[in-house]
Amino acid sequence: EPQEIHYRRVLVKVSGEALMGSEAFGLHWPTIEGIARDLADARGTGAEVAVVVGGGNILRGASVAGRGLDRATADHMGMLATVMNALALEKAIEEAGSPARTLSAIPMPTICEPYARQTASRHLSRGRIVVLAGGTGNPYFTTDTGAVLRAAELECDAVMKATNVDGVYTADPKLDPTATRYERLTHDEALTKDLKIMDAAAFALAREAKLPIIVFSIRQPGAIEDAVRGRGRSTTVAP
Ligand code: UDP
Repeated sequence: EPQEIHYRRVLVKVSGEALMGSEAFGLHWPTIEGIARDLADARGTGAEVAVVVGGGNILRGASVAGRGLDRATADHMGMLATVMNALALEKAIEEAGSPARTLSAIPMPTICEPYARQTASRHLSRGRIVVLAGGTGNPYFTTDTGAVLRAAELECDAVMKATNVDGVYTADPKLDPTATRYERLTHDEALTKDLKIMDAAAFALAREAKLPIIVFSIRQPGAIEDAVRGRGRSTTVAP
């Protein structure tokens, strides 16, 4: 049966935690292989796929700052963690049969290409999955903000936020069994109802850029492809 592609160019946000699977720290290779396959399948629909990867499975700046370690330095370390994850994901995507390129917001040209908008856009239009490392390249930001920023500047149709929950709920579904999932919300509604979808800076940028955010669970195999096809369980936050 013919399937409709919903989005032409997407930005998928994969948190560091998603890469650690059932482990307590670092990388769980079978989990990374699964995500890489899913990204390659999403690309297989004909959509152009960029990925912003987090670093929380290795290091979060805010958690290690303190004592002698200032926040900016800790955040630099956090951004380096995202580069490690990106290299692993790039490798796994290529193993899954799709060409991939890592571009880092912090230039380290012996390891991967430095991020430039034109370079990223060119790789995307040539069918490569672009893995974006280093977040925004600045301390005091998160990779969620990096994801929205890159989605806006690369003119993506949506940010696909892969999480542990299959959407946005009226309350925390783990605590409240009567919580129900929103199918669709506007940015303004999410803000008024104080629903935490991304950190405040990231969400404000998405709202300003009128960027749709699709929230879905990464635990379901094929979830990224489903989100790109505009199907599956998710919540769409859109104007
Ligand atoms: N980070 C940063 N600037 C950015 C993106 C990330 O300083 O633009 C640092 C920050 O210390 C953060 C860490 O990198 O805690 C890992 O990123 P994040 O916490 O967003 O990863 P995730 O929660 O998605 O795994």
